[in-house]
Amino acid sequence: MPVQPLNETCPLCGSSLVLQVTRTGKRLKKCSTSKWDKENMVATGCTYIEWLGNEVKELDELCPQCGQKLVFVTTSKGKKMKKCSTAGWNAEFRQPTGCTYIQWINDR
Ligand SMILES: [Zn+2]
Ligand SMILES: [Zn+2]
Repeated sequence: MPVQPLNETCPLCGSSLVLQVTRTGKRLKKCSTSKWDKENMVATGCTYIEWLGNEVKELDELCPQCGQKLVFVTTSKGKKMKKCSTAGWNAEFRQPTGCTYIQWINDR
């Protein structure tokens, strides 16, 4: 897995952080001292890890469906969309909750 050194330090131990992209395209920041011990199947070194998920920004626009605020979302794969701030995800039933308004932004 390619890792990219970052100009940031680990909040736990002060070592430098690296950016890693997993096979599934997810991005995470982790401590450069953390390693995977293949023989014993355990992680060694510092345990700091931060998943870089979707980036969410509040917008000054209102949802055409319910009148609540819209948010601007950049997904971890770089796609952009506007969606309703009331939208959520019910992990138990694996279903979206709240308002279903969504507008994908195509910047090509
Ligand atoms: Zn660390
Ligand atoms: Zn809405």
